[in-house]
Amino acid sequence: MKKSVVSKEYTNLQKEIVKLQEQWKQSLNPDIIKPNLDKAAMNAGVPAAALTAIDFEIPLFLQWIDEINKLIKKNNPELEGNLTKISELLNEESAIRWIDEAFSFNQFYFVSFAQENEVEEWIPQFLAETALRPYLQLTAEVLQPEISHAVHGAGCPVCGEPVRLAQLEGNGKKVIHCPRCHAHWPEKRVECSHCGNEDSNTIHYLTIEGDATSQLQVCDKCQGYLKVIDTRQFISKPSSAILDLNTIHLDFIAQEKGYKAVAGNSESN
Ligand SMILES: [Zn+2]
Ligand SMILES: [Zn+2]
Repeated sequence: MKKSVVSKEYTNLQKEIVKLQEQWKQSLNPDIIKPNLDKAAMNAGVPAAALTAIDFEIPLFLQWIDEINKLIKKNNPELEGNLTKISELLNEESAIRWIDEAFSFNQFYFVSFAQENEVEEWIPQFLAETALRPYLQLTAEVLQPEISHAVHGAGCPVCGEPVRLAQLEGNGKKVIHCPRCHAHWPEKRVECSHCGNEDSNTIHYLTIEGDATSQLQVCDKCQGYLKVIDTRQFISKPSSAILDLNTIHLDFIAQEKGYKAVAGNSESN
């Protein structure tokens, strides 16, 4: 199985971005996160971040977008026109809107923004999502002690991202990791994250040729899939964002076979 389905340039850009996001998150004061742990709402599948008051520092958010722009320009000089245009359009008001819409995965908003302003369709949401993540990751860090399980089908209990990645840890315990906010929570070995199916007759594992540490867990009941990576032998453990990126070939295999990382109404990934 060919592993390099994504260009090296794209992977390298993503890795540089993940590094920047980590620095940005470190620079934030955790006191800006004010959780409201409404158990009833969380048990109904509302992501905890949606119930949390986050004190966004808008000038900082805009500064991060500029930094991402610089990075993209360095890698893709042909996008300079697009990126400059977006920088000019962004102000405090539109930044607040971007944060809201990125949080709720509103692809429709970003596509119309791109069309109205004649920039490439993927760029606005990509920028907004990239600059939002450090806030989500800090939120997940603050909330992590409260996160012990997820509602099936509702995605990540902190940020709502579709579930697609698990790691085998310790003596084989399966732990779901969110590549968007880095929250994690345990799950039974034979359990579908998407529909809660625990029937070993309808949950299967697909092994990946030439890749002894990866499996795809697929569910015949809901057609959901999960990448299960045994990271116990890894010399250095990558962050879940990097692990997700390094195993993107598994998403393609699963999707080619008709499986989905289903969650709520999100279309992300
Ligand atoms: Zn998450
Ligand atoms: Zn299922």
